[in-house]
Amino acid sequence: MADIIDGRAIARQLDEKTKAQVDELLAAGHPAPGLAVILVGEDGASQVYVRRKIKACEKVGINSIEHRLPADTSQEHLLALIDTLNKDKRVHGILCQVPLPPHIDTRLVLRSISPAKDVDGFHPVNVGRLTTGVGGIVPCTPLGVMLLIESVLPDLKGKDVVVIGKSNIVGKPVANLLLDAEATVTVTHIYTENLPDLCRKADVVVAAAGAPELVKGWWVKPGAVLIDVGITRVMGEDGKEKLLGDIAFDEVQHARAVTPVPGGVGPMTISCLLLNTVQAAKNLLEPEAPRGDDYADAPDRSMYSAS
Ligand code: NAD
Repeated sequence: MADIIDGRAIARQLDEKTKAQVDELLAAGHPAPGLAVILVGEDGASQVYVRRKIKACEKVGINSIEHRLPADTSQEHLLALIDTLNKDKRVHGILCQVPLPPHIDTRLVLRSISPAKDVDGFHPVNVGRLTTGVGGIVPCTPLGVMLLIESVLPDLKGKDVVVIGKSNIVGKPVANLLLDAEATVTVTHIYTENLPDLCRKADVVVAAAGAPELVKGWWVKPGAVLIDVGITRVMGEDGKEKLLGDIAFDEVQHARAVTPVPGGVGPMTISCLLLNTVQAAKNLLEPEAPRGDDYADAPDRSMYSAS
């Protein structure tokens, strides 16, 4: 029987540590870390995600500041808001929920967030830092994936890892983090021809394709560790909606460990957002610490260690 990697439990432990860091900041006379959350428009899924993030902030003592803007908000208005938040000392992290309405240039908006406050880790400066292995703010889902893998396989040196999916928000940053951990990484995508063969040789498979139950039992080497990032809403036979991951969960009992969907990567993403916000607050407090506005080396990523 494969072990279930309980993302909810690991996320709870991480939140406790994050809360302890917030308490330390408060005890030292600093203000609570502040996270500005911008939501433009009425997208239902985005509203749910933003609500969850704000609730999670409350639990660890982060001060969340919500900015709800109508769907017809102009790009200029949004950029002006971000400019104000970039300068606001009470704000340590800025999160602009995507997708944005089509008249807004998402890339431009995300690039306008100060790298020091870019708690999503999407700014090119933070992407560059990740790629060159010099720290900076690590995107939340990839960071969560790494912490889940390391909960069962602390040493990835020389392990064969297959990443399915090469998106900028999951596949590519996960691959970079795995390379930094000295794993041998194969990044695959929709045009990869021999995906089952590649997976069958892998010690770890990270599936982030958004293709429900793509990874079959026979693709998986006995004893492999499986991380399922995919989430797809499907209609069950009972007429009720359910969530499916990218891994055929019921077929992989010969794996060493597998993350469930839901309850695996999802909870870690939010906990890593909280962690990033506190880290950003700490960086901004220390005048000598790298602020992300320049290319000076950032602290080692061991600051994120779950242990
Ligand atoms: P994306 O659509 O941007 O990228 C998908 C990638 O998977 C592409 O590189 C594509 O080539 C590859 N791919 C698609 N179908 C494939 C197939 N059949 N075989 C091999 N490769 C295939 O998606 P994304 O934003 O990276 O998200 C991927 C999945 O992860 C989605 O289901 C998304 O909902 C989920 N996700 C979950 C979280 C979380 O917090 N749990 C966060 C982000 C994304």
